[in-house]
This record gives sequence, C-alpha cells and structure tokens, in this order.
Amino acid sequence: MGKQIAIDGPAGAGKSTIAKRLSAEKGFIYVDTGAMYRAVALYFLKNHMDFHDAALVEKNLPEIKIELKYVDGSQRVLLNGCDVSTDIRKEEVGNAASVTSVYPPVRAYLTALQKRLAEENDVVMDGRDIGTVVLPHAQAKIYLTASVETRAKRRFDELEKKGETPVLSEIEEDIRDRDYRDMHRETAPLKQAEDAVLLDSSDMTIDEVVEEMKRVCAEKGI
Ligand code: C5P
Repeated sequence: MGKQIAIDGPAGAGKSTIAKRLSAEKGFIYVDTGAMYRAVALYFLKNHMDFHDAALVEKNLPEIKIELKYVDGSQRVLLNGCDVSTDIRKEEVGNAASVTSVYPPVRAYLTALQKRLAEENDVVMDGRDIGTVVLPHAQAKIYLTASVETRAKRRFDELEKKGETPVLSEIEEDIRDRDYRDMHRETAPLKQAEDAVLLDSSDMTIDEVVEEMKRVCAEKGI
C-alpha cells in the first residue's frame, strides 16, 4: 500500500487549501474528490438535464468520463476530455454536486476511480468519505471542521475577492443545506472515522492547521 493521508470534513472547512500545502510538502499527489463529484454534476447542468432525477443520472453515467491530470503539480479535472477545473467552482455546481453525490451509482463510480489513484500514487485525498470508505486503511486521517459562521464568512470573502456580490445569509443557508444532505444520506455519509483526529479550524490560521496536520502525520509515521 502506498502512503495515504485522508482529510474529511464539511464544505468550507479549508480542506483543499490544507491538502494542497500538505501534498506539496510531502511530494504526494493531491486528489480533490469533491472536484470529481462537481464534474459529474456539471455534466447534467451543462446538458440541461434534471439532476434530481436519480434514474436519469444513473442512465447517463456511462456517458461521463472523469479524469484528473496534473500540470506543474496542480490538479486539473477533465470531463469527457474538456478541462472544467474553473467551471466546477461555481456555487451552483457545488450545490448540484451535493444532490447527485447522494446516488449510490455515482458514488460507486467515483469511489473506484479514487481507490485506483491511491493504488498508483502516494496521496493526500480530501472529501467526505475518504477515511471511512475510500481509504479505510490510510496511515493518517484528519477530520477538519469549523463553525458554519466561519465557513460562510470564508466563502463570502473568497467570492468578494473574485468580484462577485455574495449575500452572507444565503451562503450560510447553502452551507447548512449541504451539511445536512452530506451527513444524512444513506450511502457514505459525512462522518468522522473512528480513528480520525478531529481538528476545528474556526480559530486557527492556515499555517497553524498545516503544522497540526504535520504533527499528526509524524505521529502516525507518515
Ligand atoms: O468538497 P466540495 O465542496 O468540492 O464537494 C462538493 C460536493 O461533493 C459535496 O457537498 C458532497 O456532496 C460531494 N462529495 C461527496 N464525497 C466526497 C467529496 C465530495 O459526497 N468524497
């Protein structure tokens, strides 16, 4: 088994920022599994198909090919050969992803892809079910969380920086809805693995979180 660091937690806890830093320091590849779920959702949005229709989503899955590519160490996501790394970042896509990710065939398809990546590479992988389902034997598991208010404010600042005009209360509501769907679905719900270390980043800087993660990894010998 290769080296595996699993990071799970709710939307906006800072998983990807931290995972990127950690993977660069360790020389592992970073696998952003949320990006894969987003790419699946984008397929249905782009084709104007109803992603609330589970049967329709399942029927169309064979038409969807998701690939990860690494350019200068950064992850690019390809949907049927097209680079959609920017498009998948929209709020609309994240919200749709939390709907399509509930469907077991979508999860089975992406979980298999994620396991394969971890067989072929040393990985820092982040998502919702990495420590519990995708990489149950990961040497280090971290459950990274933060309060809803903190996560909403971070997202708000990010969107403002991009020149958008977000509404804080709407972002908070989206985050609550997304948390609820992710935590209450039947297949692979978001939860802390029994052997994961809990980290609440509400009052921590990025550097502090990275340091703490490195400490956990060192403790686990990875
Ligand atoms: O992490 P990110 O916000 O990009 O994820 C988008 C959505 O994809 C999540 O809200 C969740 O529903 C889904 N997801 C998942 N399992 C993962 C990663 C993401 O269900 N491992």
